[in-house]
Amino acid sequence: MQSLLDNIYQEVFPMLGQGKVADYIPALACVEPRQFGIAICDNEGNVFTVGDADVPFSIQSISKVFNLVLAMNHYGEGLWDRVGCEPSGLPFNSLVQLEYENGIPRNPFINAGALVISDMNQSRFASPHLAVRDFVRRLSGNPEINADRIVADSEFEHRARNAATAYLMKAFNNFENEVEDVLHSYFYNCALEMSCADLARGASFLANRGYSQCGEEQILSPKQTSQVNALLATSGMYNEAGSFAFQVGLPGKSGVGGGIIAMVPGRFSICVFSPALNHMGNSALGVAALTSLTKHIKWSVY
Ligand code: GLU
Repeated sequence: MQSLLDNIYQEVFPMLGQGKVADYIPALACVEPRQFGIAICDNEGNVFTVGDADVPFSIQSISKVFNLVLAMNHYGEGLWDRVGCEPSGLPFNSLVQLEYENGIPRNPFINAGALVISDMNQSRFASPHLAVRDFVRRLSGNPEINADRIVADSEFEHRARNAATAYLMKAFNNFENEVEDVLHSYFYNCALEMSCADLARGASFLANRGYSQCGEEQILSPKQTSQVNALLATSGMYNEAGSFAFQVGLPGKSGVGGGIIAMVPGRFSICVFSPALNHMGNSALGVAALTSLTKHIKWSVY
């Protein structure tokens, strides 16, 4: 496994310098773009790393996965009355579909869907922002994980589009709590800082039929785990989900902080981090590294 990682790293490293860091969240614009790390957590709980795999970064939309899993644990099938499971084919922060689909977001990985899920968690937990943080601490075995307050505040300051999305859903009776309260929790979760090693460990239950080696507990049933992976495969990579499936063939989720988690079900979870993004908003080196991975292991879920 270590030599697999070393080979991928060597192969992709020359691309460093391609892409651009996200700057629509001002606090993310100052991240050093020339960083690259990979971690794998196999289904026996062993972790392998290369490069900047221990550097904490802003997980951004990867938090949508943990947010969803936490809600699935509580709401069961009823959750799917408030959010769909179809790809949107539109940018992650688009409002267009929401209006003509009566405030029901297409899936939990676009912003509208993640905001509904955050609203559900807001109704259930006394400190909803800490619930997701504590959940990822438990899953990755790292009690030090925290949010970067500067990033969370910067996102809150530039909240207009997410606030508009939430208010539109409220107008359709698909939002229970105060919009500003939910936005605080949502941005706090996006601003969580985790390393590749934390995320590979944290997502390992998705490669292991819902069982987390780290906490030695069943997080989701095998059926729910397949459902989350199916949603990730169809909607986890923004508008590049189709070509990512075509080229890589693994369920994955990326974030504008430059991280991507991906699962090789039955074998291992992987996280790649490199902050410079391609024109679709996915980590340029991250996509290249995962392409190299499936080329080396000669395997895809399809
Ligand atoms: N916090 C970001 C937003 O709401 C999430 C961006 C992302 O990683 O997709 O715009």
